[in-house]
Amino acid sequence: MGNFFAELEQGFEAKAAQTALMLADRDDWTYRDLLRNINRAASELRAFGVKPGDRVFVQVPKSAENLALYLACLKLGLVYVPLNIAYTEAELDYFVSDAEPVLYVGDQARADVACAQLRTGNFQQLLDFGLGDAGHRIQQSVATEPRESTDLAAILYTSGTTGRSKGAMLSHGNLSSNAHSLSDAWGWQSSDVLLNALPIFHVHGLFIASHCALLNATPMIFLEKFEVSQVMAWLPEATVMMGVPTFYTRLLDRQDLNQAYVAHMRVFICGSAPLTEQTFDEWQRRTGHLILERYGMSETIINTSNPLQGERVAGTVGYALSGQQVRVADEAGVPVPAGEVGMIEVAGPNVFQGYWRMPEKTAEELRADGFFITGDLGVQDADGRLSIVGRSKDLVISGGYNVYPKEVEAVLDEMPEVIESAVIGVPHRDFGEAVVAVVVASGSEVSLQDIELALGSRLARFKQPKQVVNVAELPRNTMGKVQKNKLRELHASLFDQ
Ligand code: AMP
Repeated sequence: MGNFFAELEQGFEAKAAQTALMLADRDDWTYRDLLRNINRAASELRAFGVKPGDRVFVQVPKSAENLALYLACLKLGLVYVPLNIAYTEAELDYFVSDAEPVLYVGDQARADVACAQLRTGNFQQLLDFGLGDAGHRIQQSVATEPRESTDLAAILYTSGTTGRSKGAMLSHGNLSSNAHSLSDAWGWQSSDVLLNALPIFHVHGLFIASHCALLNATPMIFLEKFEVSQVMAWLPEATVMMGVPTFYTRLLDRQDLNQAYVAHMRVFICGSAPLTEQTFDEWQRRTGHLILERYGMSETIINTSNPLQGERVAGTVGYALSGQQVRVADEAGVPVPAGEVGMIEVAGPNVFQGYWRMPEKTAEELRADGFFITGDLGVQDADGRLSIVGRSKDLVISGGYNVYPKEVEAVLDEMPEVIESAVIGVPHRDFGEAVVAVVVASGSEVSLQDIELALGSRLARFKQPKQVVNVAELPRNTMGKVQKNKLRELHASLFDQ
């Protein structure tokens, strides 16, 4: 069973009358409706003469048809390449020249940009999919292409919080193995209803969330975007919610969020960015639920998770999923002792096939023994529980000392004067790099003296910020990740004379 879609399709057919998608302002789709729309999309794609292995770019708003299009690409053995609709024309230009798509699905203006780029190469055609206009569509059953489990199913461009976006190549086997691991780890039940308000151009909404529901042919509340009042209105229908930390902090602003309101929920799952201990604690106090935090990325889908049964510990991302391995290692890949900071490396059937057309980059990050060097720094307890302490590119080296920003941020965030913070390193004549705190203040501005007073007895001098920058909000990408590269660029000359 090489093609992941063949596996999904069996479940869809067996539960054809079951609700697949619960949609705002329109009728629900059953799994029969979903299958019909997949066949419709597949027959349209076929009409363009696409063949297995061809790349299809999809840059459309989230919709039920968008999900059907993704599944149709899997069915036909095409390589699905989702793109954030927020990407600019210049960014699109780069992706087009990198992945050489055969088709572009999106709006006309962007299609024109892709088209201009495509004319310079050996590409075929473009498709303006006209999503939503279902009336005249061809509806026929299209055969599912046989695929090897190592064949590519998707390329996900990494979110580029550090440097240039790379295309992570994921195979049918990667998708299938992780969908099964997650479904087992999170005890998926036939009565589950998933609330999915995540974007589906990203691993979180497209694979992690959707696959759990699709593999089990259970219903999914499929919302175009996260909008607090809409999510509150749908929560009574759901049993599982998956979100980024921002979803949880925004829901906490709602006064009507209380234990009774979410007593029926089976589990709240969170990831893609660090969940603060404050949010974890506050959520427990308000709702009685302990958020289950897990850790993953475009290259590996999910690596570790706090347990469904067993202790969920704030500030940690739990244990390796079954069938996978996680180690915290030194530069040579040798595991460091428990309790010491090192690079998080992971191995297993979830690990991607490499970066698209970047063999050197792939060789730098995938070791001969199959471990992928994640770029995240972490610490493991003696029993294997993992905590993330930052990104290696975040690491600040000041006067020869290593400073892990997360450690400093955790202390800053406890200050009553601070709502949130991001710690960065910027060039400094004496120190090489100097630690800088970028803060969102709860009242008037936070001064360096305030910080010195609060951190003085808690952190070594070399870890303490040498400068503070007050901002109204931290720059974040759509997945809630703080864009430290932007902050570093913006404040690069802070210490210039
Ligand atoms: P992406 O490929 O866009 O999903 O980004 C993956 C990165 O997000 C990881 O390498 C981590 O740096 C970060 N990340 C994902 N989950 C968590 C988590 N639970 N806590 C902290 N960082 C996370």
